[in-house]
Amino acid sequence: MRTAHLSYDGNKSWVSHFERSSQTEKMRAVWILLVLVATAKAKRDFTGDQVIRIDVRSERQIQLLQALETEEEFELDFWLQPVSTELPVDIRVPRSSLSSVKEYLHVHDIPFTVMIDNLQELLNQEKAEMEMNQMSEHSTRSFNFGAYHNLETIYSWMDTLVAQHPNVVTKLEIGRSYENRPMYVLKFSTGGSKRPAIWIDLGIHSREWVSQATGVWTANKIANDYGHDASLTSLLNTMDIYMLILANPDGYVYTHTNDRMWRKTRSQNPGSVCRGVDPNRNWDAGFGGPGASSFPCSDSYHGPFAHSEIEVKNVVDLVKGHGNFKAFISVHSYSQLLMYPYGYSCSSIPHQSELDSIGKAAVEKLTSLYGTQYKVGSICNIIYQASGGSIDWSYDMGIKYSFAFELRDTGRYGFILPAAQIIPTASETWLALKHIMEYVRDHLY
Ligand SMILES: [Zn+2]
Repeated sequence: MRTAHLSYDGNKSWVSHFERSSQTEKMRAVWILLVLVATAKAKRDFTGDQVIRIDVRSERQIQLLQALETEEEFELDFWLQPVSTELPVDIRVPRSSLSSVKEYLHVHDIPFTVMIDNLQELLNQEKAEMEMNQMSEHSTRSFNFGAYHNLETIYSWMDTLVAQHPNVVTKLEIGRSYENRPMYVLKFSTGGSKRPAIWIDLGIHSREWVSQATGVWTANKIANDYGHDASLTSLLNTMDIYMLILANPDGYVYTHTNDRMWRKTRSQNPGSVCRGVDPNRNWDAGFGGPGASSFPCSDSYHGPFAHSEIEVKNVVDLVKGHGNFKAFISVHSYSQLLMYPYGYSCSSIPHQSELDSIGKAAVEKLTSLYGTQYKVGSICNIIYQASGGSIDWSYDMGIKYSFAFELRDTGRYGFILPAAQIIPTASETWLALKHIMEYVRDHLY
């Protein structure tokens, strides 16, 4: 066929005959190439994957579920870890492991319910909603706070926000991610130099999409309420607020392009085929202790050393360099919890009773809007022992008012919270955030 192709300019009828077969072959080659490219770039498919819930009743059941977790061939994704009888255990089970896992639970007499019957169906719906929204935003030239957006859109929206409120918002690049994406902090300030400040980061775990979306809504709320809401105005007249909406930009992009369930950073782990470090096990606070994995393929891999992840290091450098942060708040999903340190230890912190009462009052405000129920407590007591977390680090750095949120829901949709719940989630969370920030303003130290 190669000859026929090369003699294309020769005798016309002769060429046309061979040209046809050459064309067919070329088309086939192009087709194969397209298929290969599509396969290589294809998004991970979750057809038939289920998310099952186990209401753990005993230590024995926890041990059995922990044993299940070590069975690598099942490729289980624990949305909620088997660590305490206080919280349920949610597991995404790939279709190929469903029968074995259900058999295991059956044999050990562990009842379960199916929370999500076919994960891919939810993801298809989410994708379709995003595409529809994109078209309508494009045609109306507006930004919908009740929709999920990709990194590019969020970054360009930040510029719009800064342009609309230049007297109160600026955008700072605090460094680059592993894949060289800029990391932007929105700084809300009305002047002064290194005023006492509040830190808020969102989306350090990339698949927790309602967290980043809540950040976008909240930043807009702060900018718009300044000068209108007396309390927020007085807050911004004495303090600054720093918001890092996309704390894990590479992971966030990857959840859009390749794998919606990606949680970690995207750094390469030498000697392993598995990528990424859990950026909320990477902080220098009980680093490498219980509740973090030393296995690079694990979703809670702590990394080779504390602050090995550039995304974490950038925040550490900024916070240390600033030196006047009075509150440090990290926002995750899901489970509806408001937590304070420690995660790496189960002993109580010196400010336990103060943080507990702030947390309870904040949650009361949150609940007042739609009745959403939250639990309050230390990470270790309310979830489980987890070392290397951001708010343990900030607390040990002397930032007394350190809190972490786990936003909606309690597992009906888990990480795939429908976009219709973004604004309600952000609105109720705002009441809690505002309570904490006002308390900090009134109790500067
Ligand atoms: Zn998280």
